[in-house]
Amino acid sequence: MALCDDTLLCNFPKCRIKLCGFAWVTACSHAFCDQHGSGEFSHSPVICPACSSALSGKMDIVRTELSPSEEYKAMVLAGLRPEVVLDISTRALAFWSYQIHQERLYQEYSLSRAEVQIKQLEKMLNQQNQSRELDLGAMRGEITSLRKVMEEYKRKYSEVAERLMERNRQYQKLQGLYDSLRLRNMTVGERDTPARHAHHPVGPAGVFRHASSPRVSPPFLAMGPKGDSSSSSLFTCLEPDIPTTFFNFRSPAKERGRPFPQNQ
Ligand SMILES: [Zn+2]
Ligand SMILES: [Zn+2]
Repeated sequence: MALCDDTLLCNFPKCRIKLCGFAWVTACSHAFCDQHGSGEFSHSPVICPACSSALSGKMDIVRTELSPSEEYKAMVLAGLRPEVVLDISTRALAFWSYQIHQERLYQEYSLSRAEVQIKQLEKMLNQQNQSRELDLGAMRGEITSLRKVMEEYKRKYSEVAERLMERNRQYQKLQGLYDSLRLRNMTVGERDTPARHAHHPVGPAGVFRHASSPRVSPPFLAMGPKGDSSSSSLFTCLEPDIPTTFFNFRSPAKERGRPFPQNQ
C-alpha cells in the first residue's frame, strides 16, 4: 500500500492519488495533491474538503515540497532552540501518524465492506446451488419416469411386432392353401374338358375363363412368395415344377403333356 512506500495519499474524496512533488497540508492534518489543493484553496471561505474545517488562519494551509533540497533541509530549522526543533518535529510526526491512522481506518472499513459483500455473494451462490440441485433432482426424476414409459412402449412394440409376424405367418399359410386349392380346381377343370381349351382362351388380363365349371376359383393373379413351401406342400402329388403363377397355364401343349394327379 501507499503507506508502505512512505507516501501519503490525497485526502480529496475518491482521489487517493500518491502525493509527490508538492502537496497541500492543512492545520486539520489533511493533505491534498497539487491539483485538488490549488483548486479548493484558491477561493474563500476556505473549507477542508476532507473534514469541512474552516481554514482561515494564515498558516492553516501550506504548500510544501515533499522532497526538499539539501540546502533547505540544512537551513529550515537552523538557529532554533532544541526544544523548538523537537516541537516542530513532534508536530510533523503527529501529522504523519494521523495520516497513517486514517489510512488504516479506511483500509479496515474497505475490508469489512468487502467481507460483507463476500458473505452476500456466498449466500446467493449457495441459494443458486440449492436451486440448481432441486432442478437437477426434478430432471433426473423426469428422466427416470420417461425411461420407464419408453421401456413400456418398447415392450408393447415388441408384442405388436410378434403378433404381426404371427398374422403374417397365418396369412401366408392361408395364401398357400388358397393357391393350392385353386390350382387343383384348375387342373380338375381342364382335365374334365380337354377339348374345350382351344375355344376358351385366356382373357385380356391373363384370367382363365372357364364359365362352364362352377368349381373354378375367382379371377386370380400371381400371388404369394415364390418357392413358398406351404403353397405346394398340401398337394405334393402335383407336378413338382408347377409355378404358382397362373400365366403358365396359357400353353395348351404343356397342359396336354402334364400327367394327371394320382390321388384324385
Ligand atoms: Zn487529489
Ligand atoms: Zn481537514
